[in-house]
Amino acid sequence: MINTYQHLNMQGQPLQTVDAQGYPVGKAVCVGRNYLDHVHELGNQVNDNPLLFMKPSTAFAHLHQPITIPTEWGECHNELELAFLIGKPLYKSRPEQCAPAISGLGLALDLTLRELQNQLKTQGHPWERAKAFDGSCPISSFMPLDYQNQTFSFSLKVNGQLRQQGDSKHMLTPVLELLSHISQCFTLMPGDVVLTGTPKGVGPLKANDMIDIDLHGHFNIKTRVAA
Ligand code: ZN
Repeated sequence: MINTYQHLNMQGQPLQTVDAQGYPVGKAVCVGRNYLDHVHELGNQVNDNPLLFMKPSTAFAHLHQPITIPTEWGECHNELELAFLIGKPLYKSRPEQCAPAISGLGLALDLTLRELQNQLKTQGHPWERAKAFDGSCPISSFMPLDYQNQTFSFSLKVNGQLRQQGDSKHMLTPVLELLSHISQCFTLMPGDVVLTGTPKGVGPLKANDMIDIDLHGHFNIKTRVAA
């Protein structure tokens, strides 16, 4: 496993760069509405183009440590997502050029303040307050990956109950097309991470919830929401 994010902290102190492989800590580029079952569960429409947003480096937190969620802005929802670590720059790249730039695979939570997000959507405002706050992206270490269009399935249990189950074969915009699309707007740099959307099963997290996250056949993480 690549321990890229092992030394992050969530208190606003300077972020440590790098790990064994020497990646800096970059940004997270995320896609919304990339699994049809989740689009339907929130009553949203499918977009013609991927709906992109970003989280800054201060959003990263280590998934192995207790997850801190804000309590002052309403419900904070789990969104479990496959997270691809970028190892080479991608700038206006074609899909077939993107595979060699993927260097690792992990799992991340795109923590979302759902009530605040709904307010922001209604007002036509950007989502950052609801999705890009400090600690909004708890993320695993990365396993090295030679990406060859393999599919990956993953799941989230909360307090022993299965809440989310996803498989990358159900992505509306598949991984390489997504990276290509992102790279038309935002250059992806080594150390950046791409979150690929969440399947259905989003819901509120509460203090002391026990969290079990599984990338089937690869790794499992047991953690909890901080008190
Ligand atoms: Zn998400």
